Amino acid sequence: LLGADGNLGVTIFEEITALAGVHGAINLGQGFPDEDGPAEIRNAARKAILAGANQYAPGQGLPVLREAVAEHQERFYGLTLDPATEIIVTTGATEAIASALLALTGPGDEVLTFEPFYDSYGAIIGLSGATHTTAPLLAPDFMPDLDALEAAFTDRTRVVLVNNPHNPTGAVFPEPVLQRIVDLAIRHDAVILTDEVYEHLTFGPRHIPVATLPGAADRTLTISSAGKTFSLTGWKIGWLSGPAELVAAVRTVKSFLTYSSGSPFQAAIATGLRMEDSFFTDAAGTLRAKRNVLSAGLRAAGLDVYTPQGTYFVNADVAPLGITDATELARQLPELVGVAAIPVAMFCHPEGAERTRTLLRFAFCKRFDVLQEAAERIARLGE
Ligand code: PMP
Ligand code: GLN
Repeated sequence: LLGADGNLGVTIFEEITALAGVHGAINLGQGFPDEDGPAEIRNAARKAILAGANQYAPGQGLPVLREAVAEHQERFYGLTLDPATEIIVTTGATEAIASALLALTGPGDEVLTFEPFYDSYGAIIGLSGATHTTAPLLAPDFMPDLDALEAAFTDRTRVVLVNNPHNPTGAVFPEPVLQRIVDLAIRHDAVILTDEVYEHLTFGPRHIPVATLPGAADRTLTISSAGKTFSLTGWKIGWLSGPAELVAAVRTVKSFLTYSSGSPFQAAIATGLRMEDSFFTDAAGTLRAKRNVLSAGLRAAGLDVYTPQGTYFVNADVAPLGITDATELARQLPELVGVAAIPVAMFCHPEGAERTRTLLRFAFCKRFDVLQEAAERIARLGE
């Protein structure tokens, strides 16, 4: 199984994280926070473990979590879902993506994503035997060209896989872009699979779930995860929601991948999803301030910075420093200045990799002092 870079086995996140470890570098590569999520949620997991929630959960997920997901979708987006038939719990968003693609696509089908794209998309489309087609997102705002998007759809497009807010670019798509995707999916009778794991991590524009748009609900499967929202990436609790018939198909595949997901964590995440609105807005506010600190530091170091509207990643161009290959630089950066970052080209096929040759993705879900220190170290690059 080949990764986006054509290599076997190790993901770019593992590779760069290992390099950061060897050189004791600040790891702004793999996206994981350096502070754990709310004590309230962690205590809920502890209580669940001590109270005996230690055996298999039901395959579709604990009722308490499915109910909490339904409440969350109603509270934030006005979406009504039946927890019995329209929601399943998965082992992270990763399993939801894999189960959905394996359930819905196969040889002869096309799966359309934006490019750059999150690494597991390419790998799982490869496993399913489908063909991966792409529509580019271009700097500086990483919005799709709507004509190119239209041209990328064909009558073989079985699934359009949206990721909003978008990793790695940090783009947050506005309603007209999302509505165009929906209209094209209807025209080509494609299922919309939408990965919204960064739904609460936006810094201005409000997140618009695809499923809320006219014409979308009966063909849209929505994916999210506790990892990003609650800074608990190691718990691997995700979920998928949408029309009962599609959810049932995905559930069948999930049953044979992992069967079920961690019982005590599910109960605890139900507590998290029911937290007050202020938790969600405060977390986004803090992250916005972190984005500003790192962006300012990267700018001061001489890089061109593309300010993200969502996620916890910022893309920066190293071309102004006279550097022509960010992939090579990313492999040297931990040793060179003691900071690790991910080359954006790793989220692309060869043509897209050419377009993003000089871009690095930095994660800013780290403590303020760590971000400051990282910025100072990166400034040495230009010296
Ligand atoms: N989708 C995107 C866009 C992501 O960035 C990530 C993780 N960084 C995932 C899915 C995977 O989420 P999980 O850890 O819940 O499997
Ligand atoms: N999603 C995380 C990122 O984009 C990495 C997760 C992983 O290591 N697979 O950084």
